[in-house]
Amino acid sequence: MLDEFVKDKFERPIISLRITITNRCNENCIYCHHDGMVSSKDEMTPDEIYTICKIAKKLGVKKIRLSGGDPLIRKDIVEIVEKIASLDFKDISLTTNGVLLEKYAEGLKDAGLDRVNVSLDTLNRDTYKFVTKMDYLNEAKAGILKAVEVGLYPVKINMVIMKDINQNEVKDMFYFCKDNNMVLQLIELIESENCDDDKFNAEYHYPLDSLEERLADIADDVRERKFMQGRKKYYINDGEIEIVRPVDNSSFCANCSRLRVTPDGKIKPCLLRNDNLVELISHIRNGESEEQLEEIFINGINNREPFNT
Ligand code: SAM
Repeated sequence: MLDEFVKDKFERPIISLRITITNRCNENCIYCHHDGMVSSKDEMTPDEIYTICKIAKKLGVKKIRLSGGDPLIRKDIVEIVEKIASLDFKDISLTTNGVLLEKYAEGLKDAGLDRVNVSLDTLNRDTYKFVTKMDYLNEAKAGILKAVEVGLYPVKINMVIMKDINQNEVKDMFYFCKDNNMVLQLIELIESENCDDDKFNAEYHYPLDSLEERLADIADDVRERKFMQGRKKYYINDGEIEIVRPVDNSSFCANCSRLRVTPDGKIKPCLLRNDNLVELISHIRNGESEEQLEEIFINGINNREPFNT
């Protein structure tokens, strides 16, 4: 089955493409990377994003994920999804903070979006304001419920766990998700040099080991997602919790099947590196042929290197 995928030099199939379509955001989360700001006039157009997806599709990519910044900040988000959907991918998803989701959920579903991941670290208004520096908890919750209502299924909730901020909220969040047929993803905090406070990582990093041990004890079933960095899924009382642990996880690179595109149109072969990017958008803007663009894509794929080789 894996023969139909394009593979990198380490025999890892490229199954999904994550495109950051803007760096603009309506929140300002304390842990955010704020990777290389791009002004909105330099953002990729819907047609350029379509061209990138078309090449990816030709090379065997099956899944597209749109991210940001916040992708719903873009007023042309429905048009972007519509164009990508015309290429008939197996799965199109989007990651958002949910603040504008109530407004867009139905249009996005109609345009061909399959599902959404919504970042929600807490159900407590004060904690929400502390983490996002905004007061949009009600808007985010309304957006989440709208996404469930229109069938952007399965809605996954991304909860970054931070020591002494929200690690005690996992149970509440689990029931909020279970009661609304959503999947909870617990994300271990990734160190970020760009955080406002230098001491942030040391102060708030919360290793998920003990939490995983407790989940393993109470789970009815545990499964591993091989091509999603070996992530573990715990099934509890008809609810679902997935663990995302990029930190100190030796299988993260080994099982990586994802390529990324930055908001300024560069191929990003590895999540945790910025020294192997491959310029793409200027070639599209120069009107180069599909064959030439395909070659550039393959260069990006060939730049992928696991940390430990
Ligand atoms: N604005 C959108 C959102 O809120 O989902 C998309 C962008 S956001 C950068 C994508 C995901 O990365 C979110 O789930 C967020 O929680 C996660 N994230 C950002 N910085 C992180 C960090 N330092 N550690 C772990 N996860 C992080």
